[in-house]
Amino acid sequence: MPSAAGEADVGNRTRGRRDGGAPRVGLLSLQGDFERHRETLTALGAASVRVSLPEHLHDLDALILPGGESSTMLRLLDATGLRAPVEAFVRTGPVLGTCAGLILLSRQADRLPAPTLGVIDITSSRNAWGRQVHSFTDSVHVAPLGDDVQGVFIRAPRITRVGRGVEVIATYGGEPVGVRQGVAVAIAFHPELTGDHRLHEWFLRDVAGLALQGRAGGSQ
Ligand code: GLN
Repeated sequence: MPSAAGEADVGNRTRGRRDGGAPRVGLLSLQGDFERHRETLTALGAASVRVSLPEHLHDLDALILPGGESSTMLRLLDATGLRAPVEAFVRTGPVLGTCAGLILLSRQADRLPAPTLGVIDITSSRNAWGRQVHSFTDSVHVAPLGDDVQGVFIRAPRITRVGRGVEVIATYGGEPVGVRQGVAVAIAFHPELTGDHRLHEWFLRDVAGLALQGRAGGSQ
């Protein structure tokens, strides 16, 4: 049943919050580069909420899983009791995973101490961009933006299988480096490190359907 604007449901229409405030976007803050995502959210006019305990997931409009070390994050998800509530949120709620966050969202990934969250039907291979070139920056085509962005790849995962219900939203050299399934988005590179906020803006506005006060642009 459709619900009134402002309810914490998942829809593809733009909606404000019932309290009239800025969208509340959770940032998984167990480990990794969540701080740079916070700066991006602030620039876009969204409120960021650090998520390190289950109660922090209350009343969020979207969630971001940052880059870092996916094996450590999975261990900490279990240690903090966050795994079950995070799994419950990402089953229906808008989620953006970058780099290690992509690994967490993958249905399958290699060499991990615990199962992934399995939200997006892809297989990812960790640290799979070659031995010498662990990190690099290059142009990535992002289809929903109709443009290229600078992709910062830091010991990034490779997407080795894309399931049928998954849309490829970003490519590098013809290879998928960004995917979307429903309201879940995963990106192999680090859009939070370049000052170009367009990918976050697209996720929040078009995928999560949130009304934002700020706009991307200008700083790239
Ligand atoms: N190599 C990391 C992992 O396997 C991901 C790197 C990153 O998030 N920048 O989890």
